[in-house]
Amino acid sequence: MPSAETRREELKAVWRQAQACTKCPQLAATRTSVVFGAGNADADLMFVGEAPGANEDEQGLPFVGQAGRLLDTLLEEIGLARADVFIANTLLCRPPGNRDPLPGEIDACQDWLFRKLELIEPRVICTLGNFSTKLLRADPGTGITRLHGREEIRTIGPRTVRLYPLYHPAAALYTPSMLEVLRTDFARIPELLALPALTQPASPAGTGEQPAPEEPELVVPEPQVVAELTEAAEPAEPEPESAQLGLF
Ligand code: URA
Repeated sequence: MPSAETRREELKAVWRQAQACTKCPQLAATRTSVVFGAGNADADLMFVGEAPGANEDEQGLPFVGQAGRLLDTLLEEIGLARADVFIANTLLCRPPGNRDPLPGEIDACQDWLFRKLELIEPRVICTLGNFSTKLLRADPGTGITRLHGREEIRTIGPRTVRLYPLYHPAAALYTPSMLEVLRTDFARIPELLALPALTQPASPAGTGEQPAPEEPELVVPEPQVVAELTEAAEPAEPEPESAQLGLF
């Protein structure tokens, strides 16, 4: 199993490659930034939103607008911060005018997401809203209203995880009842993070549901990832890429 430092370096290499992505010609032509995702490169918890909006496109970082501020608050309420998690999106690039991601764009972009899962090795993935939920469950017919707050074990690309669909914070911004549901669902995240580690596939597998037996005896205490990465991120030379990546 590659070390956290090796995976972090590889993540930076993937970030570099993603900067030049032109798989979606329209998005590549209209974007200001490729919003790769940001956070703890060794996070146990990963969030996957929809797509960058205007603020994210401008700053090159995910969830930096109003929905992002709500996400920060919800994280804080469960004792977590951005430095503890990794935040990504279904798409790397902003759809013009904030239109919905197109099916072809989601298809074209999914390998970038799977690569992140492979390198970050999260244990729990919270999908935010319909687009990421449908993609990562490989089930376009079942929406977030039915699925939110119910965790399931899924093998997504190379990684078996606890998938935990949540309402998108943007949807909760102006609907107090939805915000309360989101808050209640969020409150269960620490419990999910404390569950035993899952057995991982021997080699990269396809998206879709797979039985994943649990092995409680394999649970080892996680290293102090934030401290470890902070240490690793303080070499003699400045690391501009880490800053752009928002890595902690
Ligand atoms: N909404 C998203 O889904 N992602 C972002 O990065 C910002 C808003």
